[in-house]
Amino acid sequence: MAAPSDTDVIAAIATAQGKAGIGIVRISGKSLDRLASQILGAKPPARTATRAAFRGAAGEPLDDGIALFFPAPASYTGEDVLELHGHGGPVVLQMVLRRCLELGARIAEPGEFSRRAFLNDKLDLAQAEGIADLIEAASEAAARCALRSLRGEFSEIVRSLAQQLVELRTLVEATLDFPEEEIDSLDREDARRRLSRLREELGQALARGRQGSVLRSGLHVVLAGQPNVGKSSLPNRLAGEDLAIVTEIPGTTRDAVRQTIQIEGVPMNIIDTAGLRDTDDRVEAIGIARAWAAIEQADAMLLVVDAREGVTAADRAIAGRLPPELARVTVFNKIDLSGDAPGAEEEQKSWNVYVSAKSGAGVDGLRRTLLELAGWQPGGGDIFMARERHLVALERVATALEQASGSALHTELFAEELRLAQRELDSITGEFTADDLLGEIFARFCVGK
Ligand code: GDP
Repeated sequence: MAAPSDTDVIAAIATAQGKAGIGIVRISGKSLDRLASQILGAKPPARTATRAAFRGAAGEPLDDGIALFFPAPASYTGEDVLELHGHGGPVVLQMVLRRCLELGARIAEPGEFSRRAFLNDKLDLAQAEGIADLIEAASEAAARCALRSLRGEFSEIVRSLAQQLVELRTLVEATLDFPEEEIDSLDREDARRRLSRLREELGQALARGRQGSVLRSGLHVVLAGQPNVGKSSLPNRLAGEDLAIVTEIPGTTRDAVRQTIQIEGVPMNIIDTAGLRDTDDRVEAIGIARAWAAIEQADAMLLVVDAREGVTAADRAIAGRLPPELARVTVFNKIDLSGDAPGAEEEQKSWNVYVSAKSGAGVDGLRRTLLELAGWQPGGGDIFMARERHLVALERVATALEQASGSALHTELFAEELRLAQRELDSITGEFTADDLLGEIFARFCVGK
């Protein structure tokens, strides 16, 4: 797809589809003076909520609402931005949008407002991604993390790392220019010290980023077990009070085969093998094929058994059909009936957990086991909603710095590794980012953002 022209006037309905109290049409362009006068009768004052009729071509009112005008450059996109807050009905919003198109605007592509904000230096790439992540956040913890990125905390850390790298490069490249001179041993020591401090700070940033990525993708769990052992009861018990929040978020699935719950804000994506029966129903078969594909990608298997019976031959048969590399958690349920003590024990990546889905005994232990498998460290300080591409870049920086520290200080190789490391850091904030990557990132935003 060709990159959209960044000089057009763009417009979109910025609020969600459907009926609501208020709906917003958002317009951005180099100058909106003419468009604003035509649709509102007069250009509204800057940054002041102004009651106005939104008018059609013949001057007839289409809606009655509030206009907000943000002249460039003090706006979200850095261009003139006009927001028309009208009534939140799909038809009336379409009428207002169509009027904007008549006046020369074109429909904005997904993420195009944010793309312009990025191109006009209103925010860097990591911040723009924070916006999309905040909108997508499926838990409060994820939302808090995304907000931190959006406000620039993550970018600041990346910039500070980049700044230290620049200083180190200056130090090292100065010595490259004068190869015949002896490098002062003080300089050498200074460079070593800077390098090791940089590596340490990078390590901390990576750890915080990895925690964020746990919050984003969570753990993928396959739930298996015989009928009646408590497979349906268990997820509800695990989610506790969080269940209500998750099931109300569109896109978090809750059907026969798959559901998502959260534990301490970490999503647990559960695939129930009980739904995986042979079927003639084509729609159901598609769902089941997808579930099997998801099982291939899963992290862990939760095998639920009745604590009074233990693991049966039928359980072993089910477990045998699942990928062997899955971490295995055997849940001995109904300990209120069997009399076993609640608890969790681990042996070689295999866990036995004793619980009662009915009384809740031992369920905390199961939660801790699942969080541990997800790689979640509770109370690990401020974390960032790092994306995969951020982690990949930070890991590449770590590798480059490791290579650098293994090479002699005054070599070209050392300088080259530092140069590579800096490029990776710059790619996170978007100072150096290929156009097609930009396209890919912003295309995942919603329209109107
Ligand atoms: P599923 O067929 O594996 O999904 O099992 P269900 O979750 O539907 O549970 C089957 C029956 O066992 C239900 O009547 C549950 O109330 C009951 N049950 C589930 N967990 C427990 C438990 O820990 N203790 C007791 N006493 N009953 C349980």
